[in-house]
Amino acid sequence: MYDIAIIGAGPAGASAALFAAKAGKKTIVLDNDKSITKRAWVENHYGVMETTGPDLVETGKKQAVKFGAELVDDTVVTISKSGDGLKVEGENGQYEARHVIVATGLSVDIAEKAGLKTKDGSEPRIKTVLDVDADGKTNIEGVWAAGTVAGVSVHTIITAGDGAKVAINVISEMNGDRYVDHDVMK
Ligand SMILES: Cc1cc2nc3c(=O)[nH]c(=O)nc-3n(C[C@H](O)[C@H](O)[C@H](O)COP(=O)(O)OP(=O)(O)OC[C@H]3O[C@@H](n4cnc5c(N)ncnc54)[C@H](O)[C@@H]3O)c2cc1C
Repeated sequence: MYDIAIIGAGPAGASAALFAAKAGKKTIVLDNDKSITKRAWVENHYGVMETTGPDLVETGKKQAVKFGAELVDDTVVTISKSGDGLKVEGENGQYEARHVIVATGLSVDIAEKAGLKTKDGSEPRIKTVLDVDADGKTNIEGVWAAGTVAGVSVHTIITAGDGAKVAINVISEMNGDRYVDHDVMK
């Protein structure tokens, strides 16, 4: 049983994964390598003068793995309740987790099968997003969403920040206490 399963390893998912794994949570990230960010040239990400989308995505994945997240190549088909956790079904395997963060970018393919509520998107060219509250919670207990699929502004700094925000909310709920992750100058 994983503590947190994350679907999607773009800026939102990998950022969530790095926070989750660094907090000591047993974390799995399922991704099918279709990030829209891989088409981007980025000059507006705070702290980074300029970078290619592919480099940003690869670095994000490496950071998550560095802290212990397991990165698995799979396409998730649905999510369902399973005992006191959640079952994530992929084309290649099944994974059990206490919490799931959906960070699938433009794709809401799993929403209907999983029973996740959607709504019209408000951002340019984003037709449908998952219906989440301010913390990132969906209508299904234990299932959260972050990034483009959660309706935030479609920019790498914002989707990455939203992934971090939602992971911090999940970690805080699991710990029963607000979580902060601050490293200090060595
Ligand atoms: C051409 C282009 C240029 C851009 N330029 C900029 C820019 O200059 N500056 C900027 O800030 N933003 C830019 N963006 C926007 C930026 O890419 C997005 O805002 C943001 O990075 C999206 O992050 P995300 O994690 O929400 O989604 P994504 O990066 O799309 O990641 C979603 C991930 O989920 C995975 N996934 C989806 N469904 C499943 C499933 N069922 N199972 C498993 N995995 C799944 C995908 O494979 C993907 O890896 C650009 C976008 C494009 C297309």
